[in-house]
Amino acid sequence: MADARKMITALILGVLAGLVAPELPGMWPGLLTDVYSFFGTIFLNALKMIIVPLVASSLIAGMAEIGGARGIGTLGLKTIFYYLATSLSAVITGLVIVNLLAPGGNAGPELAAAISSRLHGDGAREVAERVGNSGFGAILHVFLDMVPPNIVKAAADGQMLGIITFSLLFGYFIPRASEDVAPVLQRLAAGVHEIMISITAVVMRFAPLGVMCLVAKVVADAGASNTINLFKTLGLFAITVVAGLAVHAGITLMVVIRRVTGKNPLKHLKIMAPALATAFSTASSSATLPVTMECLETRGDIDKKTIGFVVPLGATINMDGTALYECVSALFIAQVMGHHMGVLEQFIVVWTALLTSIGVAGIPAASLVAIAIILKAVGLPVEAMAVILPVDRFLDMLRTAVNVFSDSVGAIVVSRHTD
Ligand code: ASP
Repeated sequence: MADARKMITALILGVLAGLVAPELPGMWPGLLTDVYSFFGTIFLNALKMIIVPLVASSLIAGMAEIGGARGIGTLGLKTIFYYLATSLSAVITGLVIVNLLAPGGNAGPELAAAISSRLHGDGAREVAERVGNSGFGAILHVFLDMVPPNIVKAAADGQMLGIITFSLLFGYFIPRASEDVAPVLQRLAAGVHEIMISITAVVMRFAPLGVMCLVAKVVADAGASNTINLFKTLGLFAITVVAGLAVHAGITLMVVIRRVTGKNPLKHLKIMAPALATAFSTASSSATLPVTMECLETRGDIDKKTIGFVVPLGATINMDGTALYECVSALFIAQVMGHHMGVLEQFIVVWTALLTSIGVAGIPAASLVAIAIILKAVGLPVEAMAVILPVDRFLDMLRTAVNVFSDSVGAIVVSRHTD
């Protein structure tokens, strides 16, 4: 498992490099941050470059191969069932932990002051800039995005849901096309997919360097003393989120792997290490998608058709870590503001978190919009969200890793059940 070790080393070196850079004299801090940013961005761009052709070819080829509508129906239903079940269990884990630990329950004076200053002025402006005017209509937008008016624009914008719908339709009609074109199209899609996986393998050789630089940049930007101060005020909130994510990924998903597939959960964790490290450093499940597929395709013993269908869909709509984070954040904000949430309100939070997690894009900080929707749904001021922004990036890295891990578990579970 040399790869797992390499990725862990890259993460540790990234943290160290990020801590050291600001302490150096003269031009070094600026220079090093630019170097981290340069290599990190090249790695990220290379991953993003692969996404559209990879997703389109894998869904088209997978769909064309599955062929008959019955096969697709069963695979689709199993996939959606897995996604909903694990996301719901993640939200409930978050709900239980945030009620038990009550991180905002005894908000100290520092936190109370932070909230009140952020309710106005800079905090309010920052929230407005980041989440816009998102109301419940934003959830409906998810369904609109499934049918993009312009597929080329959807691809250019990295709007995955649109690409998914189009590719599924395209693949569905291949076996139904005339005899002379059907096999050509099917082979073309499979060929493009094969090439995209090979390109991913090349990009993956640079993953340790890319991951190290991305992490170093985040750590250098945050600064050690700032981070310590932040964790003094928001530490309990961060601990609650981390505990929730740990329970979900470390217990629930591990039990699912063992019980449902009979596979060794730790072995699966090791196989997925490059994808998890990439998710952590990029905070983007979409950008991580090529790595997730590569880990599963070339190293796992999982049916390729299933990977091609389940994983791209999962990277877009299955976000367990995000769903859990949305729930914990909304309840934390309510606790800090002294707003007691009754059963009905908590129920609304759970369902809104589940629904919005489906529509949240696989990019950094995307769940902030969803949290704004939840706060509106229970009548809390959206501006209060500013209080969690300072720790959002760090928690984003962790929840994205959990999102990706759940997609990978989805692939082995569904593949096991379609044998
Ligand atoms: N960054 C997350 C992802 O890409 C989404 C979020 O929770 O903000 O999976």
